[in-house]
Amino acid sequence: MDASPERPPDLASQPLTRLKGVGEAFARRLERLGLVTVQDLLFHLPLRYEDRTRVRPLGSLRHGDTAVVEGEVEVADVVFGRRRSLLVRINDGTGFLTLRFFYFTGAQKTALTRGARLRCYGEVRQGPHALEMVHPEYRKVAADAPIPVEDRLTPVYPVTEGVTQARLRGLVDQVLPRLEQEAVAELLPLELLRRYRLPPLAAALAYVHRPPPDAPLEELAAGRHPAQQRLAFEELLAHQVSLRQLRAVVRARRAPVLGGDGALRRRFLEGLPFTLTGAQARVNGEIAADLGQPHPMLRLVQGDVGSGKTVVAAAAVLAAVEGGRQAAVMAPTELLAEQHFRNFSAWLEPLGVACAWLSGRLKGKAREAVIAAMADGTARVVVGTHALFQAEVRFADLGLVVVDEQHRFGVHQRLALHEKGKRGRLSPHQLIMTATPIPRTLAQTAYADLDVSVIDELPPGRTPVTTVVVPDTRREEVMERVRAVCREGRQAYWVCTLIEESEALQCQAAEETHRQLVESFPDLRVGLVHGRMKPAEKEAAMAAFQAGGTQLLVATTVIEVGVDVPNATLMIIENAERLGLAQLHQLRGRVGRGAAASHCVLMYHAPLTGTARERLQVLRDSGDGFLIARKDLEIRGPGELLGTRQTGMLNFRIADVLRDRPLLDRVARAAGDLLARHPDRAAPLVRRWLGDGTRYGGV
Ligand code: ADP
Ligand code: MG
Repeated sequence: MDASPERPPDLASQPLTRLKGVGEAFARRLERLGLVTVQDLLFHLPLRYEDRTRVRPLGSLRHGDTAVVEGEVEVADVVFGRRRSLLVRINDGTGFLTLRFFYFTGAQKTALTRGARLRCYGEVRQGPHALEMVHPEYRKVAADAPIPVEDRLTPVYPVTEGVTQARLRGLVDQVLPRLEQEAVAELLPLELLRRYRLPPLAAALAYVHRPPPDAPLEELAAGRHPAQQRLAFEELLAHQVSLRQLRAVVRARRAPVLGGDGALRRRFLEGLPFTLTGAQARVNGEIAADLGQPHPMLRLVQGDVGSGKTVVAAAAVLAAVEGGRQAAVMAPTELLAEQHFRNFSAWLEPLGVACAWLSGRLKGKAREAVIAAMADGTARVVVGTHALFQAEVRFADLGLVVVDEQHRFGVHQRLALHEKGKRGRLSPHQLIMTATPIPRTLAQTAYADLDVSVIDELPPGRTPVTTVVVPDTRREEVMERVRAVCREGRQAYWVCTLIEESEALQCQAAEETHRQLVESFPDLRVGLVHGRMKPAEKEAAMAAFQAGGTQLLVATTVIEVGVDVPNATLMIIENAERLGLAQLHQLRGRVGRGAAASHCVLMYHAPLTGTARERLQVLRDSGDGFLIARKDLEIRGPGELLGTRQTGMLNFRIADVLRDRPLLDRVARAAGDLLARHPDRAAPLVRRWLGDGTRYGGV
């Protein structure tokens, strides 16, 4: 049995102009709220509710209540205090309340005279002498002709200029009765509704728009009411289905089978000064198995900072080379791309594999030469920034794209990469490396289009980084530590942060700190690296630090990802309270890369908020990236963690990944079921929640 819609999903195709009172001009304003069809309006849900279903006795009011009250005016006076105001005292026999108006007309004043009966709605607060409502909504009522109260909770919708609550409520009121007859299509299969005890769509929508007076307000405010959860479930399901469909599209394409006889990889691994960890070996195996398939791999490798993702990427690259194909390795910053290039050249050139380097700043003849080498296939491995996939760049026979620190990309960017690397009928394999550990449930929501491998083991011999949290008033002590560490022949980072997103200001701060530290440490060689330096200067500064030429490196957060200098054992982070936990964990991961004991000093500027203190403590007490990510998720929500501000990923209308985490497993299973058993529902479901798809993971 199945709840297949008998009628066509009418409301999805009806423009809002079909409603009474919606002309072209008003329709355009509604469009600014994303409302185009009648169905959109139904899915435009209240932010909160007001209870106007009963008149509260004045004697029962408390500070902070929001209530409907009614009473008779006893006195009305204009008083001249700090601000002129009209004070109106009403009484209902149980108590009294003052209404305060800072702005009022003569007519208002005349109307609000002794004996008038008023129905008011507003928030109650403690005034100088008694409880007050400031600028309440009010209307005059006749004692002998009582006006009814609302019979439902009053919804408060997200609105925009030119679209008032009242008009939106009016529109919804027009549409709700039609839910009964025309019914928006129920897209969730009946067996699913039953299994998870979800209310049907029409009932859920009617409830959230107009909850009954006895509705559990707290549950509604928290978004945990079954009616809301049912909608969140459907939305999460739509996203999940859409990602799986994208994945299916890509997986249906053909890709070159890569691998060869493995001789190159063996030589590479034997040449390393260490053996792979169990986790690295396992993930290598997973990747090799994917690359051996005639369909594109779509694999995300998650591994904590320092877990050794680069070698795993290199092994994959060699598999491509052995399979007779080119590989491209893309990093998010020039700095990181340069470092990868150095690593890959050092590893691969001795094996006879030619590596090339391409970034936006490579110009003129050098650039032409690299582009030519990529196009004619002499460059087997190309490392670079996103410049690798610019319009004029062509690969001869690209078989694999490796993307490092993927969390900055959305799903559509992943797809674009894919298209770009396509050649003839063959698509490249894709390997994505990220150091931002994402809790499993969240990963399966955000990355449902990918297979996930986890490197859940650090190379042996690492000593955990000891972390301390100190106020910046102890800066002198911190500087003493820097001196001591450098005296032992070790190196240190000093990271400057600013709350401003402005890169220019960050760089200024780093320059200023650099100047001070050079002055304070006349006997130390102090380097500086920030995003505004010329690339050659930046490179020179990094190279000097890597070679031990400079002992202390002052930097902005540009060094966040990937930089690898095992001799550095001290990390100072200024204004640590301003950064996300995941980012701090990344920064801290720059030390503790060798056998020596390492330290991280999180300096903060007092006073700390409770949350800030809690967050820094998490970092102090744990070195486990997954645990830290989970805590960060709990404390701050998923946006920061996934870098979704940039990618627009996981921008849900109703669902909240954190709140709805208990649903995610079920949603994943339901998505599989739906695609297998009711494939016809997938398209309308995705359209309902994601529109044409640009909202999701767009750039
Ligand atoms: P990340 O996962 O953060 O990108 P890297 O790939 O930069 O980590 O590796 C961190 C450091 O650990 C590098 O110096 C690398 O050479 C080293 N390394 C990687 N794998 C191992 C291993 N199995 N044993 C010892 N050291 C390793
Ligand atoms: Mg790395």
